[in-house]
Amino acid sequence: MPLVKTTDMLAACLKGKYAVGAFNINGLDQPKALIEAAEKIKSPLIVVEPGVIEKYVNFEDFALVTRRAARDAGVPVSIHLSHGLSLEQCERAVLAGFTSVMYDGSKLSFEENIENTRKAVEFGHKHGCAVEGELGALGSSFVDITETMTDPEKAREFVERTGVDILAVSIGNSHGFYKGTPHLDFERLAEIRKAIEPYPCYLTLHGGSGISEEHFKKAIAEGIVKVCIYTEMCSEGRANAIRWYAEHPDYTGNYDTCDMTAEILKGFVAYETKCAEMFESAGRDEVLPDLLNAVPVNDRLGPEYPSAAALNPDFKGKGIYWDKF
Ligand SMILES: [Zn+2]
Repeated sequence: MPLVKTTDMLAACLKGKYAVGAFNINGLDQPKALIEAAEKIKSPLIVVEPGVIEKYVNFEDFALVTRRAARDAGVPVSIHLSHGLSLEQCERAVLAGFTSVMYDGSKLSFEENIENTRKAVEFGHKHGCAVEGELGALGSSFVDITETMTDPEKAREFVERTGVDILAVSIGNSHGFYKGTPHLDFERLAEIRKAIEPYPCYLTLHGGSGISEEHFKKAIAEGIVKVCIYTEMCSEGRANAIRWYAEHPDYTGNYDTCDMTAEILKGFVAYETKCAEMFESAGRDEVLPDLLNAVPVNDRLGPEYPSAAALNPDFKGKGIYWDKF
């Protein structure tokens, strides 16, 4: 299945009353692992590159690797940029073939946030890419800013004036690990949903790691259709790697970094699978008619790999590299 538009995927979520996981990556081996795990449980997913890791993973490599894995997958996949740090960065992600980008102007004044987000929407829509904005600042493990939760009336104005397709809300959610039990303001979420109802805009919840299944289900019932996950996946991957090295103290094989990476990936996909079950996206791989409106190939990225020549059994170069092992 080729990539699908993020908004088509979210429309299916809203219709089916479930949410899709938006899973952050920080390495190029992760998109394929996440997609393969999603296939096992027949769940759609959004593979996400956060803006802060661009110095490690460039957008075009990420889009190429993820699109290739999506092409071979039996579940709907979309590619998203989370927390785009500037308009210029969002534009590069759009041109690299992402199906949605987030411009994060939440630290700016209300008017500046609207102005920049509107520009991101204009550029994104020109290229068929959905755009997410954020209103109200999220907390983090280091800063408690629960006073900056999203105001429903301002959310209505923000969505109307920017034309965003997806809105990230602050309702007590936080990036990183929570300091205690998270307290989500569901009444506020319901008010935001009502306020933006006249507009074609979907709601997303950032800071998903650490929120209970019960609270996820309540949030989904109030209209959340996309949940961002990262911290808990990394934490499980790290725990796996530490345990594996403790169990293999004398390991000196040539492939030990591959084995360690495999253990990290197992942790990532274990939490991904758990999320897909909590969000009830598992088993929702049905292709709705509007999902068939697949994203066109972005020619800027060049040919798909492996090339047709490499797939030909008579291709002379086949096996040159792998035959060495
Ligand atoms: Zn976030």
